[in-house]
Amino acid sequence: MELTRRDFLKVAGAAAVSGKIISAEEAGAFTGRYATIIDLTRCDGCKDEPMPLCVKACREENKRRFPEPVKDIQPYWPHKFYEDWSKKRDVLNTLTPYNWIFVQKVSLDDGQKVFIPRRCMHCDNPPCVSLCPFGALSKEREGNTVISDKLCFGGAKCRDVCPWHIPQRQAGVGLYLKIMPKYAGGGVMYKCDLCNERIREGKQPACVEACTQRLKEKTALIFGERQTIMSLAAGRVRSEKLHLYGDTQNGGTSTFYLSQVPFGIIEERLRSGKEKFLMAENIVSPLEKAHDLAKYFIFGTVAPVIAAIVAFMYKGKEREKSSKNATHEDQET
Ligand code: SF4
Ligand code: SF4
Ligand code: SF4
Repeated sequence: MELTRRDFLKVAGAAAVSGKIISAEEAGAFTGRYATIIDLTRCDGCKDEPMPLCVKACREENKRRFPEPVKDIQPYWPHKFYEDWSKKRDVLNTLTPYNWIFVQKVSLDDGQKVFIPRRCMHCDNPPCVSLCPFGALSKEREGNTVISDKLCFGGAKCRDVCPWHIPQRQAGVGLYLKIMPKYAGGGVMYKCDLCNERIREGKQPACVEACTQRLKEKTALIFGERQTIMSLAAGRVRSEKLHLYGDTQNGGTSTFYLSQVPFGIIEERLRSGKEKFLMAENIVSPLEKAHDLAKYFIFGTVAPVIAAIVAFMYKGKEREKSSKNATHEDQET
């Protein structure tokens, strides 16, 4: 079911006025427990800091999960290149396997600047999850989407089908090295998982906590129960005549951007600056387009087969390894 802006404001606005909590079923298209507001009227890019505090907090929180690739990474067929960010870990101005959120800067004609924290939108019906041939992504009850670094082959299908091209690949790590390093995969994909472990423990995501510590009640990042967040966003849209992004795009997401500047103007600026990460307003989920739906069914059919072959080969190799070890031990005794 496609969600319209009117639906969003109606449902969220009704909740705001009545104080009534509307169930996911009543809301129709809304899924997941939590959502986030990213308020561009408040974010100043942490101009007084050497690094935006949300970015710093994310890197600190996730550094134990950052990839450590094997040396001498090999290209894999049919490509003649591989994606290696391991020597560029300090890059802050884009998404990388070592930087899961970054702050984009847009300059307007009147000299005004808009700072846009960018990370996974955690879509309601995420094509990255549905179209991963290896079933390495999941949509969690909390509303976040998560990539399993144990199952990911790094084929980058998730990035191809993500309208914002969010997941980023690191070669030289992951399952593909154990199966067919020259012919399949290419690494592991990395992206924001909405601090999966923290939110399950009832904590705020690290980036949200960092922004709130700096800006207090004027925090630019607000995380909470979806209905509360929707009501808050809808209330601000109405009372301050703000523009909203993320409510309908790609079939709806759990990230709501608020801005005084229309997103059409932001998108135009991003395009004219040849930015890689855009904010088009009219994004329709590939799962809702007929020809892509056909692709979805193909993947839906092929995925388990590929996964089964891969699992079989992997288990075979593991068996081979353990029988060699056993033989070796027998010879030693
Ligand atoms: S979201 Fe908050 S922490 Fe991040 S750059 Fe903006 S003001 Fe700073
Ligand atoms: S923003 Fe992209 S990577 Fe994130 S859930 Fe949506 S489709 Fe997937
Ligand atoms: S929610 Fe967690 S993983 Fe996502 S950008 Fe914020 S700190 Fe990083």
